[in-house]
Amino acid sequence: MIKPINLFCTMKTAFIFSLLTLSVIYLSQAQYPPRTITIHMDENESSYFSSKYKDTAINAYKVVSAVFSSKEFQDQVALLSFKCDSYQLGCDKITVTNGRISGQTVLDMLFKVPDVTDTLHLKRNGGALGKTPPFRNITTTYFNPIRRDMPELPFTYSLAVNICHEYMHSLGFVHLYCNPPTATCPGLNEQGGKPDPQFYDDDVTYRIGWIAYYILKDRYEHQSPKPQ
Ligand SMILES: [Zn+2]
Repeated sequence: MIKPINLFCTMKTAFIFSLLTLSVIYLSQAQYPPRTITIHMDENESSYFSSKYKDTAINAYKVVSAVFSSKEFQDQVALLSFKCDSYQLGCDKITVTNGRISGQTVLDMLFKVPDVTDTLHLKRNGGALGKTPPFRNITTTYFNPIRRDMPELPFTYSLAVNICHEYMHSLGFVHLYCNPPTATCPGLNEQGGKPDPQFYDDDVTYRIGWIAYYILKDRYEHQSPKPQ
């Protein structure tokens, strides 16, 4: 039988341990309340292969802002780290620990400018889902490839997923699976609708796009009525 004093000590130890555990969990996650960003689409400079997608594109940017500003997104990114050579200027131009960029550093870069204007060029077809030159807020996205890649999502959401991905390029992140001198990107090994494991844990832009995809897929599945 445990003596009362020992039982008290055991409970006290358990309580302190719980507090420490909660503190570690809290510190390893994003800030609370979550940070916010608003990314507007430049309506004067943007273009669309069909004008009927203008409102869709404006709404997609609102969805992008909501995803980035969500606790769900920031908590996930805060726990990650990435290979430093996914930053275009190189590992010595970004904060690195053991050759990796922390998720917190990525979040700090994302929220450094909290109100941004982006130019979107929505084209009907292209060889990828989209493209964005590093450090530029000019994004080109391709309607048919995006629809084919994420047919389970309404276009507003699949476009938002792609813009989340592209936005990381505008912060200076480049793909580990692309070849800078020729700008060619060998195909990814995405089987069964799953991400390529070779790059999922290392490539900032690739992972951010997948996090946005899972958040919006889950939101859509639980949403009523469904957005178009
Ligand atoms: Zn990309």
